[in-house]
Amino acid sequence: MRMPADLILRGATVHTVDAARSTAAAVAISSGRIAAVGSEDEVDGLRGHATRVVDLAGAMVLPGFQDAHCHLGESGHATTLCSLEGSRDADEHLRRIAAYRDAHPDRDWIVGSGWSMSDFAGGTPTAAALDAVVPDRPAVLTNRDIHGAWVNTRALEAAGITAATPDPPGGRIERDEHGAPMGTLQEQAMGLVLDRAPGPTHADRVAGIRAAVAYYHRLGITACQDARVDPGWQAAYEELARAGELGLRVRGALEWEMDRDGEQVAELVERRRSGTVGRLACGNVKFFHDGVVENRTAAMLDPYLDAAGRPTGEHGMHMYDQADLERFVRLCDAEGFGVHIHAIGDLAVRESLDALEAAARANGPCDARHQLAHVQFAHPTDLPRFAELGVIANVTPLWARLEASVAQMTLPFVSARSAACMYPFGSIVRAGGALAFGSDWAVSTPDPRRQLAVAVSRRDPLGSSRETFLPEERLDLGTAIAAHTIGAAYACGIDAVTGSIEPGKLADLAVLDRDLFATEPEGYPDVRVLATLVEGEIVHAEPGTGLA
Ligand SMILES: [Zn+2]
Repeated sequence: MRMPADLILRGATVHTVDAARSTAAAVAISSGRIAAVGSEDEVDGLRGHATRVVDLAGAMVLPGFQDAHCHLGESGHATTLCSLEGSRDADEHLRRIAAYRDAHPDRDWIVGSGWSMSDFAGGTPTAAALDAVVPDRPAVLTNRDIHGAWVNTRALEAAGITAATPDPPGGRIERDEHGAPMGTLQEQAMGLVLDRAPGPTHADRVAGIRAAVAYYHRLGITACQDARVDPGWQAAYEELARAGELGLRVRGALEWEMDRDGEQVAELVERRRSGTVGRLACGNVKFFHDGVVENRTAAMLDPYLDAAGRPTGEHGMHMYDQADLERFVRLCDAEGFGVHIHAIGDLAVRESLDALEAAARANGPCDARHQLAHVQFAHPTDLPRFAELGVIANVTPLWARLEASVAQMTLPFVSARSAACMYPFGSIVRAGGALAFGSDWAVSTPDPRRQLAVAVSRRDPLGSSRETFLPEERLDLGTAIAAHTIGAAYACGIDAVTGSIEPGKLADLAVLDRDLFATEPEGYPDVRVLATLVEGEIVHAEPGTGLA
């Protein structure tokens, strides 16, 4: 006689995302785990007198979504600062900054985020524009992808940046024709100002994580990887995890400090030990190998093109010499870390794969779940290497659409060969490679409904373009859902316990109001997340669902 279930969900279409991609009609949950999944009759055998039974009237039950690459804590915290999320253009940005200024006269600095390069002529906002609304105190706002910062004159003064200041390694100060700083700082140059701005306190960080977790629950997300965890954020995660109050399973990727050498590995090992507690596991190490295409810092095999379409001779930026990257990756691999490398350009992708291949040769094969984040471009000869080397492509499907950031800021400036192999998700899957979906929130919305819609249609139902972007790279819905559930779990090293609905696994579930397989991608944004369960606990439920 088996223990009766605590909760039975029935009358649903259950997409289990098991190896056979099987479906079922009911699922039973006992002590936070899946006790049974199958037909209603099969699951009814676990019904006891205290079992709560909920008829879902045709809803879809999925494993909880997992976000394989996001900036959970920072982005949650950013929602409490001068956030431009949802603001559409430069005028609206300035109005919102002015409103924040008026609401927070006590703050010495105005710190915020959320603009995008396509909001400004040339992609570079000016200090003069920001001075018009914030003349009296420093203001710094990072852009949505956190690869550039918009600063006012007071912020430039606070950092001592003048025409005489050299560009820091890995960064660029945008300048006028006399060399004077214009008000945009790229990549590592952001630190010149950001390091002076007041950072979040420990309490701010804890509150930021809590806000982010609540948001993720409303979206049906039950686990994620925070792709850049520094010691301050780790302390905040640890506090919540140790208290049993971390509402998501979080894989932490510990940031490799670029200005240090291999001696930091010992510290990372110690941080992994303390950062593996409750739902937290800090088992990955994050490297940045290049920047982004929009500001010409992604490392590309072919040179960037100028506005007239002529090759410039520039190939972007490398954060590491290849020998250093290989050595650092080898050290991390030897310690059993998952290596998570930011690689956008096709040259960065190739060099990152080379480094992972060299590590496997030196240390022998292992099950470390190494991954490349973003993979915006890849040379066709490198596509099969994801499968051959067991490297996960950790990608954001929402970016694979013909919106302004692609059509105006990217495609005109890269070679035709690179442009033909952009976000090559279908190709990687056909070559047998593993995909994990992440949103890179707050770069993009973490909403899985929109991510999935673009993954299967290469069009954004809420975007302005009706064109399908590189249609051969579309994914079928089953593959896309797997990348957002079991595939992301694999990248987070938790696929043995979650990511699919199978007996014995944790009851991490998302309940949607209709079956996505019977819905056109244009309609995904209208699908409602009725409920979210983390280890059987209902952490979000819409009223009237029987789960609230
Ligand atoms: Zn990221």
